[in-house]
Amino acid sequence: MPELPEVETIVRGLAPVLRGRRVAAVWGSGLPLHLNRPVDLKALRAVTVGQSIRGIRRRGKYMLIQVAEAGAGVVVHLGMTGRLRVQPAGAARAPHTHVVFTLDGDDELRFVDARRFGWVAAGTPLADVPALAALGPDPLSELDAPTLRALLADSRAPIKSFLLDQRRVAGLGNIYVAEALFRAGIHPATPARRVARRAPALLDAIRAALEGGIARRGTTLRDYVDADGQRGDNARALLVYGREGEPCSRCSAVIRRRVDGGRATFFCAKCQSR
Ligand SMILES: [Zn+2]
Repeated sequence: MPELPEVETIVRGLAPVLRGRRVAAVWGSGLPLHLNRPVDLKALRAVTVGQSIRGIRRRGKYMLIQVAEAGAGVVVHLGMTGRLRVQPAGAARAPHTHVVFTLDGDDELRFVDARRFGWVAAGTPLADVPALAALGPDPLSELDAPTLRALLADSRAPIKSFLLDQRRVAGLGNIYVAEALFRAGIHPATPARRVARRAPALLDAIRAALEGGIARRGTTLRDYVDADGQRGDNARALLVYGREGEPCSRCSAVIRRRVDGGRATFFCAKCQSR
């Protein structure tokens, strides 16, 4: 699943291509997306057709496409397998193309999603889209150590679940949580409140994991590609995720894997003792 670094990489790739483009039309495949919900094409058309795109930015794992009209725009979430790319209108559409914005200059902004866990929705204003309104602070631009400390102190959840909860901290998923906890030397099952005083080090670890992912243009395990269709290069730089049975890069103990709530957790029991 694309996490903050993958979404940031796509946003950086799309920003110069989308800015100032006028939307002429919106097309939909007719198939429902996330939670089997239909795409509201009428709302997408009302917000975008005839408007110029002011820009695209990221909050957590969401992409926000802003149009000229103040505050309005389109929210895109990539789900598990979503892709968002600008391609020439004449180029064949990929299988599983579900939403297409026709842009001036003979291009199309295409949302492709094989598994249909992603979604595309209009917002007037964008800030009122429920998923965004409920989102916690972004760890790269909004979260500071005192805020993180207060959030941690208030939670009995295991630190891994805490960090995956988008209402507390926005943008982290299974990969970067594993990497951040390894960097911080925190066992994934530790209750959040017990690491509250280590908030500054944990925030540094989260940022280092995310910034490394962005610098290497995202982690491709299977599906993720950037705005140009290229795979990310971060998988080879992962310290624990997917490295079960390999020696820890710090202490040479064997990296372990455990499953909590159906999700795999990778960690070094020596560097991340309870
Ligand atoms: Zn270790």
